[in-house]
Amino acid sequence: MTSKADFLRRKTRRPSDTNVLEMQKFELVIVGGGLTTARAIKEYRATGGGGRIALLTRERTLPYHRPPLSKRYLRGESTAEQTLVEPQEFYDEHEVELLLGNEVTAVDTRREAVSMSDGARLGYRKLLLATGAIPRSLDVAGADLPGVFALRSLENATAIRESAAQTRDAVVVGSGFIGMEVAASLTELGLDVSLVSRDTDLFAQLRSPEISEHLVKLYRERGVEIIRGDQVAAFRGRSRLDTVELHTGRELGAGLAVVGVGVQPAVSFLEGSGIATDDGILVDERFRTNLPNVYAAGDVARFYDPLFGRSRRIEHWSNANYQGAEVGKVLAGADGGYDTVSTFFTESFGLTLKVFGDVSQHDDRVARGSFAHGDAIVFYFERGRLVGTLHTGQTDETEAELKRLIGTRARAESFAVQHQ
Ligand SMILES: Cc1cc2nc3c(=O)[nH]c(=O)nc-3n(C[C@H](O)[C@H](O)[C@H](O)COP(=O)(O)OP(=O)(O)OC[C@H]3O[C@@H](n4cnc5c(N)ncnc54)[C@H](O)[C@@H]3O)c2cc1C
Repeated sequence: MTSKADFLRRKTRRPSDTNVLEMQKFELVIVGGGLTTARAIKEYRATGGGGRIALLTRERTLPYHRPPLSKRYLRGESTAEQTLVEPQEFYDEHEVELLLGNEVTAVDTRREAVSMSDGARLGYRKLLLATGAIPRSLDVAGADLPGVFALRSLENATAIRESAAQTRDAVVVGSGFIGMEVAASLTELGLDVSLVSRDTDLFAQLRSPEISEHLVKLYRERGVEIIRGDQVAAFRGRSRLDTVELHTGRELGAGLAVVGVGVQPAVSFLEGSGIATDDGILVDERFRTNLPNVYAAGDVARFYDPLFGRSRRIEHWSNANYQGAEVGKVLAGADGGYDTVSTFFTESFGLTLKVFGDVSQHDDRVARGSFAHGDAIVFYFERGRLVGTLHTGQTDETEAELKRLIGTRARAESFAVQHQ
């Protein structure tokens, strides 16, 4: 263990310590210690929320930002301390009982209590579920070989960083934002990187051939081998990974593989609780589940977005940042709820891409500008109304205007973008 890890752990309680708290009732129990939680605590206290707060989370670290894990932290350009959302003093000042290193295994909504892996129980008056998401794994031979990694936690990022220092070849699986960012960072660390994508388009979920073509060119120029339309058949190696075998029969030498094939909401501990789930915990626009006094927000929540009139689940930083603050207000009994245009950013090889709104159900698209020239906007429409944008290189004023247009579901003909 490094001294930095010790720094992050210094307020960790062992699960056995929690026995003394057994069935004590807290005003607010929060399960999960990510960005959503840190923001919820801040806003809960700021809007007058009182009583005892318990923060229960599996990881032994204070809540931290995950975006650096595939970027600056992975490249060794920032430290673990710099990823923290708030320092230790914040939790002391906000009177939060930190129960780090504790897995919640069940929620008993009838008795208003949560159970932990060591059998200890805590009572709540209000419960916030902010357990985020967990990476999907590949169901292929060798997926658990040393040298094959997922990336969700600081611990994962540290292990990948250490492994990268000892190898020359890496394979990154998946061309969503984690795969793209990790491929870029490992290349910048000097590794020979192959990116394997099942899809023909990179960032396929954006359904933009313009950005896919640009990324293929950019990554190739930087030395990344892009392999599209192929999949991993097996990870091979005697005691640790040395080869990645693809469906086409191709074999790639690799001392390190990172699998970035999406995440799923962390809800398994809710089985039998009566809390409704469907690809996430179902909540309304005020983050209320189907049961009284139980709330959910962040990556784990499938919330009702009044702008689009449908339920969505968003796995991005800005959403956790926003929903955490809003649910904090709601928990304190103040006004609050989901009322924004969602945004998302990703960065690789110096290119920052932003997505505003919901591009998942569009039926028309118009692209303007050039990603190669660092100035482009793709407009996404659903039944003639603007529902989202993908863009790079725009000023704050333009971005504010894009949000306004999406927020009013502007008609294509009402603003400057016309079809060619
Ligand atoms: C490597 C990486 C890079 C990213 N980069 C970007 C980016 O560039 N842009 C962007 O918009 N988004 C990015 N994201 C996504 C963003 O970080 C997430 O949307 C955000 O972390 C969600 O916060 P959260 O608090 O909802 O959940 P999380 O951060 O996942 O926190 C949930 C916590 O709950 C704990 N937990 C889960 N189950 C239990 C249980 N049963 N008992 C106790 N504890 C439990 C988990 O261990 C975890 O600590 C990135 C994510 C990763 C992993």
